[in-house]
Amino acid sequence: MKTIVAKFGGSSVADAAQIRKVAEILRADPQRRIAVLSAPGKRSKADEKITDMLIGCHARAAAGEDIGPVFANVRTRYLEIARELGVAADVGRVLDEVEQTIREGGSKDYVVSRGEYLCAQLVATYMEAEVVDAAELVTFRDATTVDTEKTYRQAASLLKDKGHLQIVPGFYGAYSDGQVQLFSRGGSDITGALVARGTGADLYENWTDVSGLLMTDPRIVEEPEPISEISYRELRELAYLGAAVFHEEAIFPCSEVGLPIVIRNTNEPEHPGTRIVSEVGTDRGEITGIAGREDYRLGRIEKVLLNKDRSFLARLERILERYGVDVYQSASGSDSMAFVTSAAELDPVAAHVAGDIRRELSPDSVELDTEVAVVGIVGGGVAESIGLGAKVLGALGGAGINVLFMVQGYSPYSAIFVVPQRQYGEAVRAIYGMSR
Ligand code: ASP
Repeated sequence: MKTIVAKFGGSSVADAAQIRKVAEILRADPQRRIAVLSAPGKRSKADEKITDMLIGCHARAAAGEDIGPVFANVRTRYLEIARELGVAADVGRVLDEVEQTIREGGSKDYVVSRGEYLCAQLVATYMEAEVVDAAELVTFRDATTVDTEKTYRQAASLLKDKGHLQIVPGFYGAYSDGQVQLFSRGGSDITGALVARGTGADLYENWTDVSGLLMTDPRIVEEPEPISEISYRELRELAYLGAAVFHEEAIFPCSEVGLPIVIRNTNEPEHPGTRIVSEVGTDRGEITGIAGREDYRLGRIEKVLLNKDRSFLARLERILERYGVDVYQSASGSDSMAFVTSAAELDPVAAHVAGDIRRELSPDSVELDTEVAVVGIVGGGVAESIGLGAKVLGALGGAGINVLFMVQGYSPYSAIFVVPQRQYGEAVRAIYGMSR
């Protein structure tokens, strides 16, 4: 029988009603024999995620404040879920232990990981499934590196097909000595990918609250078309351009072996969602997705014969690095150069950066405050497609948008257009309109 690893995000396990949907999805296909779960997320926009509540509790305890009222909310959430599901699990005892651990100064990672741990326990009791603790499955080498080989081996041995559902809490693992370590936020996606890869699964299903990926941001374009299939590379380019897709690091364990990922909606399980695969008939020369980043800055430096100074760009990089500013894109010519960087990084240190540039690079002029947004197109064969760039420029020109900077050719899959910040939405809509 084939194996599907099904990961459910925070909104899919936010309350008892959502967990019933999860159970139905899991029961609908016996190939879904491993589930990876997040901690209960928001039930409404105004709600708080369990993960954030636990982070808050830990911070309060560390500051010597009383955690009572905040932890009471965590307790209520779990007890409510248990009661509504009719589960007589030992949640109360585990909650007492967690509260005690927080009061005694337990590590933040351990405390926060209990969000997914408790959720897995509850759902497993409800579904008569087995919990396999992520601390025994995912082994970290250091805070940001997983020992993937060991993790895959452990997944293969602990998650052998035993004829029943196995549930793994997402978002954390442990060092060899057992000390718990969290992934970065949204990290249950990574747990799911590691488990899928380690167990040699045929498919990694990522269940969330949207029916797959959309061609662009629905807050900007009304009802954009869904993407039915996209390649790993295209997805990574979209993430680079700012699309909030699933966790970037979750792609590699799957893309390395061509393990397909599908993004689906717990609230609309009949929708096929988006498949992420190795190849999608590349060189189509069509736009798969449009994404962007707002609140960026275009910096420009003028200096006669700048191009003759071999170390100019390296010295500029060093100045920016000194202040923790990353260059997103850059280009240079004979007497000037421009670079794009995020406002959040540059603005607080802009005066220092400008001062150092003047002192160390003796430019004719420096300007660091042009407010811009980055808009990019992604698609197989975008870079080789004759005339596509002209069409995008035509659409932007038609909308009265001046392109201040553009880059193409750094990747076969994408191209970037930098426009005035205030015209970001119009730019996305113009390109989307042209691509249909
Ligand atoms: N619960 C964690 C978070 O809110 C991890 C996850 O949901 O993937 O970031």
